[in-house]
Amino acid sequence: MPKITIDGQEYQIAKATTILKACEELGIIIPNLCYLDGVSEEASCSICLVEVEGAKTLMRACVTEVTDGMVIRTNTERVRKGRLLNLELLLASHPQDCFVCERNQNCQLRRLAFEMGIQRVRFSKETSISLPIDQSSSAIVRDPNKCILCRRCTAVCEKIQSVRAIEAINRGKRTRISTFMDRGLGNSSCVNCGQCLLVCPTGALVENYHIQGVWKALSDNQKFVVVETAPAVRASIGEEFGLAAGSRITGKMVAALRRLGFKKVFDTQFSADLTIMEEAHELIHRIKNKGPLPLITSCSPGWIKFAEHFYPKVLKHISSCKSPQQMFGAVAKTYYAKKIGIDPRKIVVVSIMPCTAKKFEAHRPEMDAAFRYWKNVMNLDEKEHFVDVDFVLTTREAARMMKEAGIDFTRLADEEFDEPLGISTGAAVVFGATGGVMEAALRTAYEVLTNQPLSDVEFKQVRGLEGIKTAELDLNGLLLKVAVANSLSNARVLLEEVQNGKSPYTFIEIMTCPGGCLGGGGQPIPTDTQTRQKRMEAIYEEDRSKSVRKSHENPAIKQIYQEFLGKPLSELSHQLLHTHYHERNELDTPFLLNKTVKI
Ligand code: SF4
Ligand code: SF4
Ligand code: SF4
Repeated sequence: MPKITIDGQEYQIAKATTILKACEELGIIIPNLCYLDGVSEEASCSICLVEVEGAKTLMRACVTEVTDGMVIRTNTERVRKGRLLNLELLLASHPQDCFVCERNQNCQLRRLAFEMGIQRVRFSKETSISLPIDQSSSAIVRDPNKCILCRRCTAVCEKIQSVRAIEAINRGKRTRISTFMDRGLGNSSCVNCGQCLLVCPTGALVENYHIQGVWKALSDNQKFVVVETAPAVRASIGEEFGLAAGSRITGKMVAALRRLGFKKVFDTQFSADLTIMEEAHELIHRIKNKGPLPLITSCSPGWIKFAEHFYPKVLKHISSCKSPQQMFGAVAKTYYAKKIGIDPRKIVVVSIMPCTAKKFEAHRPEMDAAFRYWKNVMNLDEKEHFVDVDFVLTTREAARMMKEAGIDFTRLADEEFDEPLGISTGAAVVFGATGGVMEAALRTAYEVLTNQPLSDVEFKQVRGLEGIKTAELDLNGLLLKVAVANSLSNARVLLEEVQNGKSPYTFIEIMTCPGGCLGGGGQPIPTDTQTRQKRMEAIYEEDRSKSVRKSHENPAIKQIYQEFLGKPLSELSHQLLHTHYHERNELDTPFLLNKTVKI
């Protein structure tokens, strides 16, 4: 173990440790903007400078490994001036419009400028060229003017998601981040996961905001605006109001949404239970009819687009069940509209999701089941077309609306979801964590298949944040091999086996984001490993707190089958709750939406 000296103190540090990592372990903060442990080590921002005795120049702590006898200084005038100069150079070409920037509450660049005591930028902008904003994607907006070329986004897209939708193009001062042939994110293989957005230290990547549309709907007396909230949102939205990660604030969230003016506050967990009913029966059907197996879960829209681009051969393995978000929209505008006797055209469904890809999913052309259902019944014209889910807000957007409305979130008293689309079980809560859909489906599949009560509902083998988990489960004599992957680079490992006909599994769960929905691209920033862990604990606690923990025992689910759908996989279920997928090639997409131009 090399002996080193940092700021006059001696330490022993493991070999091959960088100065940055060593300082981190010792509690010495070295500022930086581009480093992401194990993902992005490009050393492009040059902010993490330190002095190393004997070296002619200041060294970048993120790429310099400690050696025996090394003497490091992290806080000298030379170090401070060097860091400051590099930061000023970044700021010189940066638009200073923090007032109107979506990231001004959690922008690392802005915070660092404050922490490093920047009072003015000595250099003027070399050019006034303003790069076009890429608004081609329904989920993510890219403003290259705010980009500091740290390349965290490209590293995450390549290494965590294995998508490579974005990369650095050109050289020198013309370098910028772009998509294949500069066509814009919306015309690329981007799966809309938003993981790049979570790591961007500036406001160069933000979600496509739906806030204004929701305010407009809420102030329209002719509309009946209902909201659905995804499982993972209740484990994270408190962070936006200064609460610790993992604070369980379901009741306060419901109260806040009611204050915003939603007519009914419903729960996507209701439709998660519905998804489980359909998916567990689909699994049983495929097991009894010998395939196609493995069955792969379908509720993560980033993963679905990924499969459509990169694994078209596995599409037949993906469950035809729509995601809980989309099932909710379809039943809200059919079953619920009938139940309360309201014209479905008046219902506006707003969903609050931890996910940016849900914005893309909601506007896939096939997501209009309620319109198709009513078209013949009400003799509707195509011009009256409506979609199942009208607006998708990320957790961050929902919190912003609450702040705009002056809601003192932490002081709200707990309130309950509205019935019947707000009634849910513990099985639906665990959807928010990687392994949760699998666990929820197994709770139901076991009892349906065996006709025996499940004594222990917790399938701990499929829990945890590891990238790939596998388990062999004995369902009363039927051996079921299952696998769970979170993040798309991990999914690839399982998908290669499926594509080559060599998968040993019967059932696979794939979630696009690290940790599952709790680590989604729409979640509060920062979303790091510790926060994911805390949110996961909150989700499992919420499951334990529920009196009903199996989807098929949800009384509201029993009711919807009795009153409306008939039984799982019925003709009406297929019409409203199931969908299809298709092979995608970004080159087939017309250029029409592309607002990015070559410069
Ligand atoms: S990215 Fe940060 S520094 Fe730049 S305008 Fe936005 S808040 Fe300000
Ligand atoms: S949203 Fe996901 S797939 Fe798209 S560019 Fe960002 S990281 Fe890559
Ligand atoms: S878009 Fe954000 S994450 Fe990507 S290089 Fe620019 S500043 Fe870094």
